[in-house]
Amino acid sequence: MTPSTRGRPLLSDLGPILLFLAVPVACEAQRRPSQFRQPTIPPPTILEYQPQSTLVVPEHEVPRARFPVVDVHGHPPTLDDRETIERVVHEMDRLNIGVMVQARPSSGAELQSQLDAVRAAGYEDRFVFFASLDLSDVGPGSGARIAAQLEADVRAGAVGIGEISKAFGLYHTKRDGSRLPLDDPELDVVWETAGRLGIPVFVHTADPPEFFQPLDYTNERWLELALFERRRYMDRERFPSFEQLMVERDRMIAKHPGTTWILAHMGWHTHDLARLGRIFDEHPNVLAEVGAVLYDLGRQPRFARDFFERYSDRILFGKDSFQPDEYPYYWRVFETADEYFDYYRDYHAFWKLYGMDLPDDVLRAMYWENAARIIPGLPTSALSGV
Ligand SMILES: [Zn+2]
Repeated sequence: MTPSTRGRPLLSDLGPILLFLAVPVACEAQRRPSQFRQPTIPPPTILEYQPQSTLVVPEHEVPRARFPVVDVHGHPPTLDDRETIERVVHEMDRLNIGVMVQARPSSGAELQSQLDAVRAAGYEDRFVFFASLDLSDVGPGSGARIAAQLEADVRAGAVGIGEISKAFGLYHTKRDGSRLPLDDPELDVVWETAGRLGIPVFVHTADPPEFFQPLDYTNERWLELALFERRRYMDRERFPSFEQLMVERDRMIAKHPGTTWILAHMGWHTHDLARLGRIFDEHPNVLAEVGAVLYDLGRQPRFARDFFERYSDRILFGKDSFQPDEYPYYWRVFETADEYFDYYRDYHAFWKLYGMDLPDDVLRAMYWENAARIIPGLPTSALSGV
C-alpha cells in the first residue's frame, strides 16, 4: 500500500485505484480454469477440443414437422421470380411448412413485385408479406409519413410490420443525430396505425444479452463473439445496454395496448423464461417467436415445456435464416424426448440439446393456430389436414 491510500486518498490517486479495481474483474474471470489441476500435457485450444459423445440412447430424427407450420420469421430470398418461389415451396413441402411469412424487409415497389410474382406463380396460399418501415432519419413529421406508407403497403397486401431489425435501438439515429429510442413519441402514430389496421408488429430488439457483457472467459458466447466482431455491443460509448433496450421496448409496448406485438427470438429472454412470462402476464397483446434460440430451449426441456404449456397461446414458430437443413433440429427439440443431441451451430452453444416432448395441442398452437389467429387473412388451405 502506498502512503496516499492509507490516509484519505487525493482525487488524483483515485484514477489508478479505480483502474486497478476494474481490471481484475476480467482477469480473475479469465483465470478461473486454475480451479482444475494443471494437465501434464498441453491442453487443446477451444477450437481443437471436440469430444465425441459415447452415450447410446434412442434417437428420433424428425425431417418433417408433425403438423403444418406457419414460419412467421421467414427469411427466404426475395420472392420476385418463379424459380426462386418454386425452390422455396419445394423445401417448405419437404419440411411441412404450410405458410411462410416473408419477413425480409420490403415496402412499396419491392413488396409489390413479390406479391405479384407469388400470385403469378399460383402460390398466394403459401406466402404472406410483412411490410418494412423506413426508420432512418426520424424527425418531426416522420411518424405520419411512415404510417401513410404502411397504410399503402397494407392496401397492397401486406399483413404485418416487420421484421423490424435490431438496428432499431442499436444503430438508427434521428435527424438531430441522437440515437432513436424504441419508445420515441414520433413513432406512436405508426404503432397506433398498426393497431387500427389489426396487423401485428414483428420486432427484433437487441441481441443475446451475452453480446452486451464483457468478453471474458465466463461469457457463454465467447467463441461467437471472438469470431464475429460486429456482434460485440459491450462498448457503452457506442451502444445502449441490453437493459436499456428492454426498458424502451417494454415502454413502447405499454403505450400501445391495442397493437399486437410479436417479439422476435422470444425477446432474447429464453435464458430467463420467467421474465418473458411476466411480460406475457402484463401485456396480453404480446406474443413471441422461437427463431434462433433453440440452444436455450433445448438445454432446459422440462422448464421450457412447462412454459410452452402455460403460454401455449402466445408462442409462434419462426426460424429466421432460411437454411432448410436446420429446421429438423427444431422439430426434434419440440416433438421428441431425445436426449443429449447436437445443435446445428457449435459457436452458439457448447452444450447438447434435449427434446421438450410437447403435447400435440401445444405443437398445433405454436406451429399454426396462433399465427392464424393474429395475422389477418392468413391463408389456411395449406394448413388443412391438421
Ligand atoms: Zn429476422
